[in-house]
Amino acid sequence: MALQIALVSIGKIARDQHIPAISESPDWTLAAAVSRNAKVEGVQNFAEMSDMLAQCPEIPVVSLCMPPAARFDYAAAAIDAGRHVMLEKPPGATLSECHELRRMAEQKGVTLFATWHSRFAAQVPAAKEWMRERSIRKVTVTWKEDVRRWHPGQDWIWKSGGLGVFDPGINALSILTEIMPRAVFIKHATLEFPMNSETPIAAELQFADPGGAAISMILDWRQEGPQTWDILVETDSETMLLSDGGATLTLNGKLAAQKPDQEYAALYARMADLVRSKKSDVDLSPMTHVADAFMLGQRRETEAFHW
Ligand code: NAP
Repeated sequence: MALQIALVSIGKIARDQHIPAISESPDWTLAAAVSRNAKVEGVQNFAEMSDMLAQCPEIPVVSLCMPPAARFDYAAAAIDAGRHVMLEKPPGATLSECHELRRMAEQKGVTLFATWHSRFAAQVPAAKEWMRERSIRKVTVTWKEDVRRWHPGQDWIWKSGGLGVFDPGINALSILTEIMPRAVFIKHATLEFPMNSETPIAAELQFADPGGAAISMILDWRQEGPQTWDILVETDSETMLLSDGGATLTLNGKLAAQKPDQEYAALYARMADLVRSKKSDVDLSPMTHVADAFMLGQRRETEAFHW
């Protein structure tokens, strides 16, 4: 039987991905929407999440799509009301908030799923398998996109807690931490802050790898034209390129596999499994790297950003 779910915060990602993924899934029925500004057709609409929680005891699952700085209060209230909770990435504004949510969910006996949609890109499992069997020499991550295209007019991304270029960069980190056969650690970071912004527009990271590979990451939010979401892995004699954010796999220069985007369908299938098996999935390693980058990073000022 399909599970009823309430979607909270009806902005860009809720409309682009969550509503279509829920509507097309046999696992889910979208039963309610919570929004301070919008309405979703064909479901119960609420302006306040507290009203939805009080009036809809039959809805056991809540999916939260607001920016990260606002997420903790909503997640804590939903868990406290005995609901299973799905968190958009990044799961909170700080690591300590996320640890507390995990503790609360455990104590309450509900599912908490801190989602990393990029981990559900089609070729990530194949890339992980390829890396497991090989001696890796070099990993180069290049994540360059156009902030105006993906976050049009969203001022929260330039405010403390909005993460700046680490909002997409955390997607790259979520794939890297999934496919690397061992833990790696940021050793050096340079962050570029527009002079009118609290968060960075670009960053360069270098990682220490106990296995000896040279691992680097370039994040840039100023790329117009074609967008680049690539992870290039090199051994002594072979290469693997995971591109299009994980949708395309190229081995030794030859296209090996490619599939259209299905990340959010896979995320909701995973959430259904977690709820039915009474489990949680809260891996904070991508966010830990972001925190480390902010902790270690050298800061440089760059020209002001204007929409
Ligand atoms: P958005 O459109 O700017 O905001 C989403 C919605 O969150 C808003 O429409 C608003 O909903 C609610 N909201 C905004 N500020 C709030 C606040 N201070 N308190 C409570 N609610 C607030 O942002 P988005 O692009 O959808 O991103 C939301 C999350 O999805 C972020 O964590 C982002 O990293 C993630 N994400 C975004 C993308 C993308 O391409 N944009 C892709 C993947 C993941 P109501 O008006 O309905 O209350």
